[in-house]
Amino acid sequence: MIVTHTIDECRAHRANLATVAFVPTMGALHEGHLSLMRRAADCADHLAVSIFVNPAQFAPHEDLDRYPRPIERDLELCRAEGVDLVFNPSVDVVYPPGELPVDVNVPALATILEGAARPQFFAGVCRVVAKLFGIVQPDVACFGEKDYQQLRVIEAMTAGLNLPIRIDPCPTIREADGLAMSSRNVYLDAGQRQRARALSRALAEAEQHIAAGEPDPRRIEAAMSEILTAADVRIDYAVVRDPSDLSVLSKVDGRVVCLIAGHVDRVRLIDNRVVEVGQRA
Ligand code: AMP
Repeated sequence: MIVTHTIDECRAHRANLATVAFVPTMGALHEGHLSLMRRAADCADHLAVSIFVNPAQFAPHEDLDRYPRPIERDLELCRAEGVDLVFNPSVDVVYPPGELPVDVNVPALATILEGAARPQFFAGVCRVVAKLFGIVQPDVACFGEKDYQQLRVIEAMTAGLNLPIRIDPCPTIREADGLAMSSRNVYLDAGQRQRARALSRALAEAEQHIAAGEPDPRRIEAAMSEILTAADVRIDYAVVRDPSDLSVLSKVDGRVVCLIAGHVDRVRLIDNRVVEVGQRA
């Protein structure tokens, strides 16, 4: 496994590889990230992973400084997964002082839900992913459905800029009790960890309502909110939307996506579930 820290090094090693599947991460790797790597390994001749905590997607009040950075452990996990190339740059490599900032974004998706709660977020994500695509030059890139809106934004960005990269969506990996794995779960103490289960429980409840034929998105949203509030989760949103463009639905019909963002004290968590009407809960 080759670990690179500069753009020139990364490009030089990438040039020696045939097809490359790429998994961009912010490190603090868990089974969710590893599942993306396993999927990516089946998609191309070689596997590349980036580990970079991207300051551009954090607001000043968010957790950039305390975000976990266990780099030695992360590199061990990459090695064990058979990763060929790691790109682990410093902030100055990705954002050289004096570089004129470039805007890349998908405004129609970037201002709602996560984008409304975190106005800088998708501009920061698009900027870094566009840079990483240009540096690593992958054939395929794997993204988790855990970050559902982000996946839709990256798909739209890649298609809209005609980038020759296939985006491969990968299923959400969960703890045994249903909590979606996240690098931020380490912030939760035992009591908060219990309350955090309300997100996946609320999504399961939504799925049951939909399977039982509930046509009104508002009633499903109310049922999710009730479960979250009972667990003292402060809700950013708990909604039922169109899975392709996240637009508001007047009626549940066909496929829908249920999306939740909420705070367990200071820890912000997100989760989602795609449900097909008529599907068994
Ligand atoms: P992050 O390091 O949080 O930026 O995530 C890097 C990639 O891993 C993104 O494509 C995420 O959607 C994906 N990911 C994070 N958590 C999970 C999970 N529990 N299951 C599947 N993919 C995940």
